[in-house]
Amino acid sequence: MLTDRHIVILGGDARQIEVINKLVALDARLSLVGFDQLDRNFNGAIKVNMDEVQADAVDSLILPVSGTDKKGFVETTFSNENVQLTAEWLEKTPEHCTIYSGISTDYLDKAAVEAGRSVVRLFERDDVAIYNSIPTVEGTLMMVIQNTDITIHNAQVMILGLGRTGMSLTRAFHALGAHVKVGDRHPEHLARAQEMGVQTFYLTDLENQVQDNEICINTIPALVLTSKVLSRMPSGSFILDVASLPGGTDFRYAKKRGIKAMITPGLPGLVAPKTAGRIIANVMAELLLEKFNKGGNPI
Ligand code: NAP
Repeated sequence: MLTDRHIVILGGDARQIEVINKLVALDARLSLVGFDQLDRNFNGAIKVNMDEVQADAVDSLILPVSGTDKKGFVETTFSNENVQLTAEWLEKTPEHCTIYSGISTDYLDKAAVEAGRSVVRLFERDDVAIYNSIPTVEGTLMMVIQNTDITIHNAQVMILGLGRTGMSLTRAFHALGAHVKVGDRHPEHLARAQEMGVQTFYLTDLENQVQDNEICINTIPALVLTSKVLSRMPSGSFILDVASLPGGTDFRYAKKRGIKAMITPGLPGLVAPKTAGRIIANVMAELLLEKFNKGGNPI
């Protein structure tokens, strides 16, 4: 249990509600900053302003999935309040206070280093990324269905990048009867894709692989769908770029060529905030229990 552990949740969206529920059930003492407009109360959790939090009594700090912006502000779906995390504030927390965030940002990394506090980036963990790929796939299917006039069944679908998300996408589109072709730079990834029964190619050959494309899903966070590649792709194609911003597509050129191309960050939070929140909540609970039940500060 997390009895008497003081955990501050700093902003976030509907996903944090699952985190709050989980930590309340584990008997933690929660301070919620940036939740004043949330029409719901939790036993064991109080809604406060940033300046009401006693920094030197904080055992752990939980940030939104997006971390902070360039100036240290966190997103607050349930408040109009500006909530900012600063190195000066962090310095006042006890040394064992760990910061948990979905992803990190340059600002957050710098502030944490200045204050001597460690940051755990939840979305860098394989388990979180793989669980998160499930709602991402469902969101991708929704976007593809909404933005095309063909069935996925029998469509020519290209998936770029066979990482944690690309693998789940490949399996889902293949299972729905699409003609899936996967591009990656690792031979072992391509071998796995072939074992799954889909076509493969090396990314270096991408411009020769797009001529028959109908739907292209990119998961690579680097510019791969260049103007040169897009110039060979049929103009009626649909590109869904799910990679982190700014994505891997030359959107300007795609538009010029008449290719419908969209970037869609945050699909899990959009289509399944409860599931996406539970994924984070379960890992958060595991990490906090491990940390405090060992009595130390392993992460
Ligand atoms: P991942 O496991 O790291 O997969 C990324 C893939 O891209 C890997 O195969 C990686 O290969 C490849 N890659 C990276 N840089 C490359 C480059 N310069 N050239 C060629 N290949 C490159 O990540 P993931 O968890 O699947 O996530 C994929 C992306 O989707 C990330 O940007 C993530 O933030 C984003 N995402 C978005 C959503 C959403 O809602 N839109 C949801 C989940 C994830 P290597 O292993 O060789 O680097």
